Amino acid sequence: MSSDISPLKQPERQPLMDAHIHFEMYEADERTAILQDLREHSIEAMIGVSKDLESCQENLKLAESYPGYLYPAFGYHPEQKVPSEAELKRLLQWMDEHVDKMIAVGEIGLPYYSRLEAAEQGQSFDLKPYILLMETMLQFAKKHDKPVVLHAVYDDADQVCDLLEQYEIKKAHFHWFKGSASTIARMAESGYFVSFTPDILYEEEIIDLARVYPADQVMVETDGPWPFKGPFSGQTTHPRMVNDAAAAWASIQGIPLAKARAILYNNTRRFYGLT
Ligand SMILES: [Zn+2]
Repeated sequence: MSSDISPLKQPERQPLMDAHIHFEMYEADERTAILQDLREHSIEAMIGVSKDLESCQENLKLAESYPGYLYPAFGYHPEQKVPSEAELKRLLQWMDEHVDKMIAVGEIGLPYYSRLEAAEQGQSFDLKPYILLMETMLQFAKKHDKPVVLHAVYDDADQVCDLLEQYEIKKAHFHWFKGSASTIARMAESGYFVSFTPDILYEEEIIDLARVYPADQVMVETDGPWPFKGPFSGQTTHPRMVNDAAAAWASIQGIPLAKARAILYNNTRRFYGLT
């Protein structure tokens, strides 16, 4: 038997992007491991969101060390104490100085889970400073013509939609979105994007959303290092898991996987202005 027949190479898969990850929150050795095998898993790059000034600086450093692998977004995550006036001033000034390095403003939004927790413990919660912070970030995005990465679920999403309209922001990505049918319809109509995490494999609410949301306004993400359940239980969240999310979305939509991957990839590049 001839030994010069080489095995068939596995056909190259259409790459994907992880549209939302907290990459700087991983340990240094985990980050190295992810970067080393990212493209072996057909993940071209990640959109790395920030939660405060320190994480913005860390994400920028990582993005500059690995060009083309990580695109950083700068912002202030809403599920924590609002920054002091001085802290916010420093953050905005830093964002201003590094505006040409940022792909988007994010992660920003409203503190749904902190508010829920306060209510469960019978504590009051003042939402007003969070809305003011959100408005400041939206003004920054508008001024610099940047997309926004939003943490806004359930009832908060309607309030955020109002603010987006008020500040005339069209490029909005509601990451890991969950909400009512009327909010979903409003967001779809406004041209806003949503992204599916690996919980699209097992969470009914997300599967229902994936069925109805316009195919040209969806992306896949991990929100890593946030851990997942179901088939991902006990695993460190890795951007390769968007491959599973893409396969689940393809089957929910009833379209071939290669086509689904191309749609998800192109949507992400288009939304973030990478085309
Ligand atoms: Zn996030």
